[in-house]
Amino acid sequence: MPRLVLATRNAHKTAEIAAMLAGVFDVADLRDAPGAPEIEEVGATFAENAALKANGISRFTGGWALADDSGLEVDALGGEPGVRSARFAGGRATDAENNRLLLSRLSALPGAPRTARFRCALALARDGALVATFDGTVEGRLIEAPRGAGGFGYDPLFIADGYDRTFAELSAEAKNAISHRARALAGFRAWLAANPLDTA
Ligand code: IMP
Repeated sequence: MPRLVLATRNAHKTAEIAAMLAGVFDVADLRDAPGAPEIEEVGATFAENAALKANGISRFTGGWALADDSGLEVDALGGEPGVRSARFAGGRATDAENNRLLLSRLSALPGAPRTARFRCALALARDGALVATFDGTVEGRLIEAPRGAGGFGYDPLFIADGYDRTFAELSAEAKNAISHRARALAGFRAWLAANPLDTA
């Protein structure tokens, strides 16, 4: 099986992506690539940041790399936190701190719509060159207080359209069936079916 290095140190993302690519790739991440460069997420979009990370890591490791850049867009906040989702409440903010800040920003806007979406951009690169990008979105709404212990990030606040449980209350399988990351990965898998990798 070809080796694919994920340009992340986020064990949650790796677990989700590895589960969805099981049998297709031997998936590793930056915890298996000591000395890999820190790539600054200076892009204005998820796709730009994913491409920066995939290019940089595939140049370092040689071979294939896949980067995920993802986050939450909240309509009442003009699309924030967006590309700043991981560092919404500060550079080293925890998920709980980010969730608290999000709830306090929304509580200052009573009556505003609670609609939001998760977006994911995946970028595939080989030997430092971008090969393809894939996007996925899941629409939903934000609740008033966190619920559930699964998942990560803003999952305890997010209910996908058509559901009544938060992403953090769903099983990993249920979240992986509908998430933004799953939808972007479905695009990647369709691309792979049409473009078998030359792994020689
Ligand atoms: P990135 O590592 O720069 O792509 O930041 C992603 C951030 O977006 C995470 O730290 C979370 O705050 C948020 N995020 C992305 N995907 C998810 C998800 O599936 N559930 C909850 N939060 C997510």
